[in-house]
Amino acid sequence: MALEIHQFPCLSDNFGVLIHDTERGVTASIDAPEAEAVRRALSEKGWRLSYILTTHHHADHTDGNLALKAETGCVIIGPKGEAAKIPGIDTPVGDGDAFRLGSFQVQVLDTPGHTLGHISYYIPQAGVAFVGDTMFALGCGRVIEGTMEMMWSSLAKLIALPPATKIYCGHEYTLANAKFSLTIEPENAALVARAAEVEQLRAQGKATVPTTIGEELATSPFVRVASAAIRKRLGLEGATDAAVFAEVRARKNKA
Ligand code: ZN
Ligand code: FE
Repeated sequence: MALEIHQFPCLSDNFGVLIHDTERGVTASIDAPEAEAVRRALSEKGWRLSYILTTHHHADHTDGNLALKAETGCVIIGPKGEAAKIPGIDTPVGDGDAFRLGSFQVQVLDTPGHTLGHISYYIPQAGVAFVGDTMFALGCGRVIEGTMEMMWSSLAKLIALPPATKIYCGHEYTLANAKFSLTIEPENAALVARAAEVEQLRAQGKATVPTTIGEELATSPFVRVASAAIRKRLGLEGATDAAVFAEVRARKNKA
């Protein structure tokens, strides 16, 4: 049983991702930032689209929905909490729901904050999660519709997944995130090493995603809210995890 994952750039800094069950020949697109890039990726791989798995309603994640659905007859699965805003949605899902994609079980996690209905898709058998704009490599999405507490709960849910879990996110923002992260925890050697690696990858035009939960826990100030060094730097020694997260996110907004 194998899940092949094909990631490709879309728009200015989005990722498109196709996942394919090689045994059953079932293919899903994680979001659909633009129809043409997804179409091209499908034809390169010789795959037929069965599903679109939408993480949230923003146009840079849903613009391709209607065209791809018209061309392929694919079924669009998306967040129950904002179903009215998802073009072409067939199957609204929410926290605790699970469905089959070929031989794989896909679990739905509510991860609100960036938008109120945002969901993530976790495939335990493949050790992979697709988190949209909730978590980025060395970062997280802007808290646009929800509250800081809500976003922190969503991130806390993701970092509770097994450390080896591969994380695919919606955008290539890692270089800017790395530079910001170094201002929050400059003494973190793992972060310093990762920032150098990210710089090298980007200079070569290579993607820095996927990341893993373990790697984020070692390097990202957005989830390292328990770190004594970070708390000391922010002057938040006795604060709650959510409050430390909120301060990191607020500083990133101003960076
Ligand atoms: Zn978004
Ligand atoms: Fe986005």
